[in-house]
Amino acid sequence: MNYIHVFSIAILLFWSGWVNGQHVSPCLYDHAIQLREESNPGYKERLYRTIESNAAHNVNRNDEVLKVKVVLHVVYKDDIENVGDDALLKQIQVLNACYRRKNADTVNLRSIFHPVAADAGIEFELEEVRRVKTTATFRPSISGLPDDVKITSKGGSDAKDPDKYLNIWICKILPLELFGLSSPVLGYAYPPEPLDHWPAGSAAPAKHLEGVVIDYRTVSQSTYPIPNLGSIPMLARTAVHEVGHYFGLRHISGDAGLFGVNCEGTDGVDDTPTQGAQSQFNCDTSQNTCGAGVIGDLPDMIENYMDYSAETCQNTFTKGQVAIMRSVIQTLRKGLISHPSGTESIYVDNNVSIVPNPAYQFFDIHGLNNNHQYSVEIYNMMGQKLKHKQIYSNESVDVSDIYPGIYFVRIDNINQLKLMIAR
Ligand SMILES: [Zn+2]
Repeated sequence: MNYIHVFSIAILLFWSGWVNGQHVSPCLYDHAIQLREESNPGYKERLYRTIESNAAHNVNRNDEVLKVKVVLHVVYKDDIENVGDDALLKQIQVLNACYRRKNADTVNLRSIFHPVAADAGIEFELEEVRRVKTTATFRPSISGLPDDVKITSKGGSDAKDPDKYLNIWICKILPLELFGLSSPVLGYAYPPEPLDHWPAGSAAPAKHLEGVVIDYRTVSQSTYPIPNLGSIPMLARTAVHEVGHYFGLRHISGDAGLFGVNCEGTDGVDDTPTQGAQSQFNCDTSQNTCGAGVIGDLPDMIENYMDYSAETCQNTFTKGQVAIMRSVIQTLRKGLISHPSGTESIYVDNNVSIVPNPAYQFFDIHGLNNNHQYSVEIYNMMGQKLKHKQIYSNESVDVSDIYPGIYFVRIDNINQLKLMIAR
């Protein structure tokens, strides 16, 4: 149990009905579940019962690609936590690759799992990057998760309309300190409600707290250090795992194996093999915690993004998982796809738009009142202002001196539009 320190985090979060990004400690399990049962009678039963997921069977699968707009909040204290544009774009690329099954290492999936592997048909589009320098720190504790990162007045960054956007906060998550143990947390997310395969009370405590939080090191670094134990490899797939929770997925072990192996848990998905405990950041293909020797039994699916195997061996969602995620996006999180997506200009507050977009040398702004002068500012994705101009509605804005890329245009400090510049 090399990662016993890591394990101890999740029990607290799990006990509180939260989904977390870490392993679960055996040490507090009974106590925690009992506390939860007392405050929420029936919790134990819901936690353990085996559920055939309705979502996995009833969803209308179609081939439509579901596009989700993402707002990245970089909340940093030290400069190293201010993850650069390159890493942010790479993070979006990793999400897109993994949710379209286009990552090169899908070839590593063992052939026994080929029949269940699936392209989720979900794509992510970067809507906006918000950078906030803070003096606050973000640390999970026995009383709660560090959701202050989602609140501007508490040193974080307010969510952008959580009905329409997937908000992802990137910050330094300090380890949970408990009973002398220091337990790193890579990230956490809340699932939506209601879902049959989740206990009631698992969703975000408030709308503005929905979304995903990940540690900056999972985005910008190739390893994540665990004191005294070494480093675990990072391929920016912590976000893939946490977004899976946000779309309704559970860990493939079903979270019953808090005391070592327990095959009673379920993730509500038929085509992931029964697994009795989380993998331990390894790539052990011989691991088979449940059903070994039974005809037809499959080994643990360490290639699954919803296990805790090393990110270097994760490369797959299953058809059952994809069905849940698509169902969630089309029902419980349907606002994510209810507005147009594509390469047209994007508006926030009204129908003001940039034309053409992508722009080449100049752009116009449509939808402005003819009789006013407007302040137009252009920002890069680092949040640096590149240009500030006062214009009348019929004036063009010259961008011939700006490199091709993605920018944000702020008009009168109210409308924020995405601008693409191409040559
Ligand atoms: Zn998780």
